[in-house]
Amino acid sequence: MARRTDPVCRLCRREGMKLFLKGERCLSPKCSFEKRNYAPGMHGKKGAFKRKESDFALQLREKQKARRIYGVQERQFRRYFRTALRVKGMTGVTLLQILERRLDNVVYRLGLADSRAQARQLVRHGHFLLNGHNHNIPSYLVEVGDVVEVRSASRSNGYFKTALENLGARSVPDWLEFDSARLAGRVLSLPDRQSVDLPLSEQLIVEYYSR
Ligand code: SF4
Repeated sequence: MARRTDPVCRLCRREGMKLFLKGERCLSPKCSFEKRNYAPGMHGKKGAFKRKESDFALQLREKQKARRIYGVQERQFRRYFRTALRVKGMTGVTLLQILERRLDNVVYRLGLADSRAQARQLVRHGHFLLNGHNHNIPSYLVEVGDVVEVRSASRSNGYFKTALENLGARSVPDWLEFDSARLAGRVLSLPDRQSVDLPLSEQLIVEYYSR
């Protein structure tokens, strides 16, 4: 997957809200959005957020916001939307469910990474087992009953020792269960809309792709 190399804090400023893409830093006074709460670029200060936006602009922004929060490229995101369309039920909710089921998101939700970007890197570097087997594909969609655990060789790693000390700082959603002794999480059910605690309007995203 293509990797972003430009500053991620610009994305929060572009969307006009904190997207929490940088873990701890997002909660500290160092957060760029706290200091520069206006759109990036030359005309950002002139009030890009205050302009009355067209329906299309609102739909586009919502789609971009979701993509940026989950760190998914456009092509992949569109593929998820097409998958959601084929599933019976509400397309927008199914789309959010697919995004939540990504392995990198599950690692983040279990509290084993500070951000989804960090979770993606940890998965890629092979620090996790899925159902007892090595697995390094961040976009894998978990199923009910899947068990994600930190590889035993990685437990002595300084990063996981610190993560273990900070466990509990973030609550685990009710569709997941976390065993801190084993550093393992189990998928209890598929996430529903209530468990996706993000300020996203899935309806606008559906409208964007249904134009
Ligand atoms: Fe966004 Fe986090 Fe950067 Fe703040 S520190 S602007 S919340 S990514």
